[in-house]
Amino acid sequence: MSILIKNGFIVTQNKNRDIFKGDVYIEGNRIMEIGKNLHHEADYMIDASENIIVPGLINTHTHVGMGGFRGLIEDMQLDDFLKRTFDLDSKRTDDDIYHSSMISIAEMLRNGITSFLDLYYSEDIIARAVKDSGIRGFLSWVTLDERYTTQSGSPINNAENFIIRFKGSERIYPSVGFQGVYVCSDETMMKGKEIAEKHNTLMHMHLSETRKEVYDFLKRTNKRPVEHLYDIGFLNDKLIAAHTVWITIREIKMLGEKMVSSSHNSVSNMKLGTGGAAPIPEMIKYGVNVTLGTDSNTTNNNLDLFDVMKTSGLLHKNERWDASILKAQEIFDMATINAAKALKMEKYLGSVEEGKLADIAIIDPYPNGIPLRKEAIIPNLVYAIKGLNVKTTIVDGKIVMNDGKLTLYNIEKSINFFKTS
Ligand SMILES: [Zn+2]
Repeated sequence: MSILIKNGFIVTQNKNRDIFKGDVYIEGNRIMEIGKNLHHEADYMIDASENIIVPGLINTHTHVGMGGFRGLIEDMQLDDFLKRTFDLDSKRTDDDIYHSSMISIAEMLRNGITSFLDLYYSEDIIARAVKDSGIRGFLSWVTLDERYTTQSGSPINNAENFIIRFKGSERIYPSVGFQGVYVCSDETMMKGKEIAEKHNTLMHMHLSETRKEVYDFLKRTNKRPVEHLYDIGFLNDKLIAAHTVWITIREIKMLGEKMVSSSHNSVSNMKLGTGGAAPIPEMIKYGVNVTLGTDSNTTNNNLDLFDVMKTSGLLHKNERWDASILKAQEIFDMATINAAKALKMEKYLGSVEEGKLADIAIIDPYPNGIPLRKEAIIPNLVYAIKGLNVKTTIVDGKIVMNDGKLTLYNIEKSINFFKTS
């Protein structure tokens, strides 16, 4: 299959961050050519003359399997939130997890997200939703100590079996997840790391999300979580740590030294009343690769990275009393090229460049009355555009969302699954 996108403003996110008006030609699952006035006989032609063409956004922290819980776990502290979640989790069916994942994935595709990094159990069911929807899924099977889990069998064995079963599947990238230091012993953490190394996969965890998590850990071990993970040799460049809100400069330097990536979840943090703000400017200064995550539908409650970009900018400018902190371009990088780096996919994802995989979102700013001015495009993407402005989403060279509708899956089935009378 081939697609020719004509005459749009292309936000390349290449090394020079070039933006220009032109065409994008896609053949198979690759971006074959970018330029002006391309002439190709394509199966699909998309007129993008009033549109912005961007690399598909990458959401580096979510739990799509919680889609069906949206609005059901509200107004409570993280401890109570987790108790309620574990309680709801223990009563779930496979159908529930599948349809939950589908409504989350459908929402992401609707909002121009083409890849996501997930953290959950039952990732084999989520993989089915990835397959059926056409999205690209980086799926981390969550591990924790056996005495805390609702999973049947050993979480560590489950994670390894999942990786063995799905490695090499189309658009599915399995990896090892960790719930967090509050339920993962050193033994669990290091066993998980061993499996990740053996199968050459990513690692994905919650880290220093709340002050309570950090202080409970300090009381128990006399060390802060990042210091401890550094000392036991857990940190490396394959790790994506979600949140990293309550960390010191010393810990930031450790994360930077070990080339850890952070997933900043500003909306989720604020909704859970985490307090303060993740030290993003310092993380950037000391070489931590910062990316963005929505977190799940229970703590956000939408999966719109445009919202997260805007909120992140607002949060840090306000927190530091400094409107010049965190430039719009830096924030847009977090949602695209930085995220591709975190996933070890910078050769294939995160920018609109010849040879890369064809993961693209086409945005229509017209309903908001935003004029197309080249120098204003990046700030407008971060602060003015919403997910609902996305007109078309392309993943792996296939149009998976067009004019608000998924093309490969009838989402009605999943929406109806949760309707009550
Ligand atoms: Zn999370």
